[in-house]
Amino acid sequence: MAKNNRGKTLRSLPNRGRGQCPNCKRTGVKLMYEIKVDDKTIKVCKVCKNIPAEKLTA
Ligand SMILES: [Zn+2]
Repeated sequence: MAKNNRGKTLRSLPNRGRGQCPNCKRTGVKLMYEIKVDDKTIKVCKVCKNIPAEKLTA
């Protein structure tokens, strides 16, 4: 995979790819990783990317 989370790609995202991570509740983090939970996709920061999906929904 190429550098999908850098440069111009981020500019094109809503709010430039930043927001509040649903897992760690930090704001202003880049939500660069999408985790599939059932039929929806949750965006989390890089810290939370390795957390299993079932923990995110809890
Ligand atoms: Zn996070």
